[in-house]
Amino acid sequence: MYYTMEKETLPREALEQVQLRRLRDVCGRVYANVPFYRNRLEQCGITPADVTSLDVLRRLPFTEKQDLRDHYPYDLFAVPMENVVRIHASSGTTGKSIVAGYTRYDLDIWSEVMARSLCSAGVTRHDLVHVGYGYGLFTGGLGAHYGAELLGCTVIPASGGATKRQVHLMRDFRATVLCCTPSYALHLHDTGMELGIDMKKLPLRVGVFGAEPWSESMRADMENKMGLDALNIYGLSEITGPGVAMECLKAKQGMHIQEDFFLPEIIDPVSCEPLPPGSVGELVITTLTKEAMPLLRYRTRDLTSLDYTPCPCGRVFARITRIMGRSDDMLIIRGVNVFPQQIESLLMECEGITPHYQLVVSREGNLDALEVQVEFAEGTLDDADEVRKFQARERNIQKAIKEFLGVSAKVRLVAPRSIQRSEGKAVRIIDTREMT
Ligand code: ADP
Ligand code: ZN
Repeated sequence: MYYTMEKETLPREALEQVQLRRLRDVCGRVYANVPFYRNRLEQCGITPADVTSLDVLRRLPFTEKQDLRDHYPYDLFAVPMENVVRIHASSGTTGKSIVAGYTRYDLDIWSEVMARSLCSAGVTRHDLVHVGYGYGLFTGGLGAHYGAELLGCTVIPASGGATKRQVHLMRDFRATVLCCTPSYALHLHDTGMELGIDMKKLPLRVGVFGAEPWSESMRADMENKMGLDALNIYGLSEITGPGVAMECLKAKQGMHIQEDFFLPEIIDPVSCEPLPPGSVGELVITTLTKEAMPLLRYRTRDLTSLDYTPCPCGRVFARITRIMGRSDDMLIIRGVNVFPQQIESLLMECEGITPHYQLVVSREGNLDALEVQVEFAEGTLDDADEVRKFQARERNIQKAIKEFLGVSAKVRLVAPRSIQRSEGKAVRIIDTREMT
């Protein structure tokens, strides 16, 4: 199912022509209107007239998160302020928040991007979409909202928070689609169970989950618990918001990046050299149509790879694999690189524990110490025998982490519901190293 069939199934050569035309256009606009880009392009010896093939992309300057922070709030805007109709800001997971501006046209494109995304998840105008992403400066809520409305769905703008009420609303309003972070979806599910409302028995059939990393094993768990197809959606405020890339229900394998709007590359994060399809590296995106805040070769810091092989769904757009982590989230424990999702995958294999976990990193003497705190499942710690079993389980997880990731961690099973739930992005890492 497509929202804009002719655009999503263009032959690649035709798509590349669209990309080239738009790339030249965006270079012209930033060259003329953004002093930062004019300087950078001049330093690279490029004028917009030089953009005669997509190969020129490799010669364009990168844009980094720090550049956005240095030009806070509006200095990278390429249009007069009177043309900017909306401001969003990133949730600030990794430092000072980053501002994004939108013209009317930018909002229209974003809605189209989200309508396409929902469509590829099999959502139609007959669906009732419960939006549990936060509404506000964070792009999740309003992004999903306008996309679902454009598609003609019935939108329930629940936003984040008031979790018990949300569960009641999902039941009463008979939502068929749930949009929120995967960790919040689990929280909604668990809260439902406490209230005697089983998501599996509701009409819910699709979950559009994103904004934070999650694992394939988490998908299996959620589909099983909640009785829905759990699909992955990716986006970031700097580029537009959710919908930059989205999985299709047909293949459920990798997220189609909407290449007619966002030109992707994968680079080696250290050498900055482009990497071939299939290699894991940092995702770099050039916005092709954005008016208010176009970005050239924006370094997302998200690690993934690109797959150009044809997808059974028929979309021409390349797919990015599940985000392995953001480079900011990579823990270096005694020299070993570890991403939270790797630990998550191992935890999900174990019986008797829940997907609620946190990694606490500290320094003991001169050495890094990693403690994995994970909640055990309700009703499994009743007698002394069970306690022994739990200790054995802790040791097993410890062993698996050592074996698969090569890092020594202390595993501590903690009581159900003792790890704080988040209404938006889950906090997976507590790093106390700077403070000691
Ligand atoms: P931030 O979290 O940096 O404050 P945003 O709210 O704009 O800002 O979030 C964008 C970031 O969220 C992405 O760069 C990426 O790291 C993460 N993200 C979004 N969607 C996904 C997803 N489906 N899988 C993994 N990570 C995601
Ligand atoms: Zn597909």
